[in-house]
Amino acid sequence: MDSLSNRNLPFQEEHQIYQDQIERFAQQELLPNDARWDDQGYVDREAWLKAGANGLLCPSMPEEYGGPGGDFLHSVLMMEGLARHGLTGPGFFIHSEMVTPYIINFGSDEQKARWLPGMATGEVIGAIAMTEPGAGSDLRSMRTNATRTDGGWLLNGQKVFISNGQTSDLVVVAAKTDLADKNSITLFLVDTKSKGFQRGRNLEKIGIHGQDTSELFFEDVFVPDDSVLGKPGEGFKQLMHGLARERLSIAIGCQSKAESALQWTIDYVEQREMFGARLADMQNTRFTLAEMKTDVEVGRAFVDDMLRQYLDGKLDATRASMGKLWLTEMLGRVADKGLQMHGGWGYMREFPISRVWVAARIERILGGSNEVMKEIIGRSLVGRGKA
Ligand SMILES: Cc1cc2nc3c(=O)[nH]c(=O)nc-3n(C[C@H](O)[C@H](O)[C@H](O)COP(=O)(O)OP(=O)(O)OC[C@H]3O[C@@H](n4cnc5c(N)ncnc54)[C@H](O)[C@@H]3O)c2cc1C
Repeated sequence: MDSLSNRNLPFQEEHQIYQDQIERFAQQELLPNDARWDDQGYVDREAWLKAGANGLLCPSMPEEYGGPGGDFLHSVLMMEGLARHGLTGPGFFIHSEMVTPYIINFGSDEQKARWLPGMATGEVIGAIAMTEPGAGSDLRSMRTNATRTDGGWLLNGQKVFISNGQTSDLVVVAAKTDLADKNSITLFLVDTKSKGFQRGRNLEKIGIHGQDTSELFFEDVFVPDDSVLGKPGEGFKQLMHGLARERLSIAIGCQSKAESALQWTIDYVEQREMFGARLADMQNTRFTLAEMKTDVEVGRAFVDDMLRQYLDGKLDATRASMGKLWLTEMLGRVADKGLQMHGGWGYMREFPISRVWVAARIERILGGSNEVMKEIIGRSLVGRGKA
């Protein structure tokens, strides 16, 4: 593991202790179960509860809401701690870094008191439901809608590809309060015990099998007024608010996976023998490792620079988009070269490089696809969106 003191970031001793604690938890509780979770298609609740008891869920949630009271660097260490082992099953990232911030940033005191303590302990698993079968990148064309009724809203529609969808207790659902008005998107806090809420299939993906990904259905689900996040019509603005942090977080995970892919590959080529020599002694291997190392080195400098900017409140959405674009592409390159160096063993699930290779593929699609990232970056350079 990299020493935190080399990173020119304001890490303190408490962060080092937290990193060690995450590593112990990964070794003892997560890695031994990872393959089983892959087979069953979801992570046991017990693992969530243990993570909560160890202060590993929602690391930066303030203590006043029941969280461990860390800062964003604690969250960073948690993301890196899972990514470095290629642990793709536990949906802690969505829960801790995507769902919780919506409630912390936009929730009422009652909403915070109701949901946040359970999210910190793992008794409440969170999901966020934006995507629909007909609306992914183009979120404004969503069809899920809420109509007014006595004391609240009736939610109708369908979502797809929702991480933690099978296991969640709380879903932040994006829906329009007026289908004719694309600006009427509103976020609703939906208790999954609500009548009319139904989980569809746990979708069969090509990788990250341990993380459940679902269809969700809403049929006249009653959502009381006090479960609207902020005010009706503020949803799109709320979704945009956290984008820089979310894209930086994706970049952080990709960087750690790429660093591990490189190390696994070095370890492999050093022990693999063929034609009377080690694989490591062949020029092609050295060249490939050199390319991987260079990518990883550039990635680390970029990620930590974005992190410094974020901590100073200066990371804008355009630069975070560049980070998401470059780091996800970089991980794809590094994981692919690493797998090739492993030969057939790289294609076997028992080798972590295979799992990171397939997991890497989704990074270019979710969290805003890379084509959308290019649009954002391009518009900042020319045309109407120019800064
Ligand atoms: C494993 C997994 C987990 C997910 N988890 C969640 C979740 O928890 N919650 C949630 O709400 N969603 C989730 N998603 C959905 C994910 O965010 C969407 O898949 C993503 O936003 C892309 O939407 P789409 O799949 O509808 O593709 P589309 O939007 O239909 O895109 C198709 C193609 O068009 C390209 N494209 C889009 N816009 C442009 C443009 N302006 N110019 C040029 N090309 C463009 C895209 O880049 C892509 O290549 C998840 C998806 C997966 C696969």
